[in-house]
Amino acid sequence: NIIIEFKNVHYQYPDGTKALKGINIKIPKGKKIVFLGPNGCGKSTTFLQMNGVLRPTEGDIYYKGQLVSNKKKPKKDLWKEVGFVFQDPEIQLFSANVYEEISFGPKNLGLSHEEIRERVEEAMKDTNVTDLQQKPVHYLSGGEKKRVSIADILAMDTEVILFDEPTTSLDPKHIEALMKILEELHEGGKTLIISTHDVNLAYGWGDYFYIMKEGAVLLEGDHQEVFKQK
Ligand code: ADP
Ligand code: ADP
Repeated sequence: NIIIEFKNVHYQYPDGTKALKGINIKIPKGKKIVFLGPNGCGKSTTFLQMNGVLRPTEGDIYYKGQLVSNKKKPKKDLWKEVGFVFQDPEIQLFSANVYEEISFGPKNLGLSHEEIRERVEEAMKDTNVTDLQQKPVHYLSGGEKKRVSIADILAMDTEVILFDEPTTSLDPKHIEALMKILEELHEGGKTLIISTHDVNLAYGWGDYFYIMKEGAVLLEGDHQEVFKQK
């Protein structure tokens, strides 16, 4: 039951940096997946490929068995299926106030006013930003921006959600709240994929792991396969 597959995906940035060097992965549906590795190993680039912002310079990407992205094929609207919570919310947030920001995605999906309102309210409740809804986004603190950026993606209700270094700029109380949201999403059948350089976070949260180094997957598997000594 594979939701996302990469076949020999390479990616070179326009400046010549070879960020991905032949990635082969099969992401099983409904799992808690972790990409673990140091800064610069290619986790964010992998995520940008998964939601269609970038296209491979070589290799193919499949979504539910369908070829969706390669060098020649213009990517299809993967953002509707694969939500991406950026590490840096500054890059993600652009609307005037919090309510407008969170409603942008559902509006783009063409939902009714009523559905949009319900989704935005639920996402605000889950991320504890309801009281901020009329605030200009640029007045928010770092942690508040992070929570609004998570609400943005929850309101899209995508099948897969990517969280790039999700605990960055959250305090312990909000990390705990985020973990609760992740658990609920998991129980609801979502495929959740996080990237982190934090081994403890990875170990505690994940159920399938890709260990990355220098643009390649070094090792993959469950806890037993990845963390236990032979
Ligand atoms: P990670 O998310 O694991 O920190 P990235 O995917 O961000 O890693 O980066 C992988 C490699 O690609 C690094 O060498 C990084 O410096 C480089 N890189 C990332 N973004 C760009 C960019 N826009 N242009 C050129 N090189 C980039
Ligand atoms: P942090 O300590 O997390 O950096 P700030 O000190 O920036 O947070 O902000 C504290 C609170 O004040 C936040 O709830 C933020 O939304 C609010 N805030 C910051 N600047 C303004 C402003 N110019 N107008 C209204 N509210 C603001």
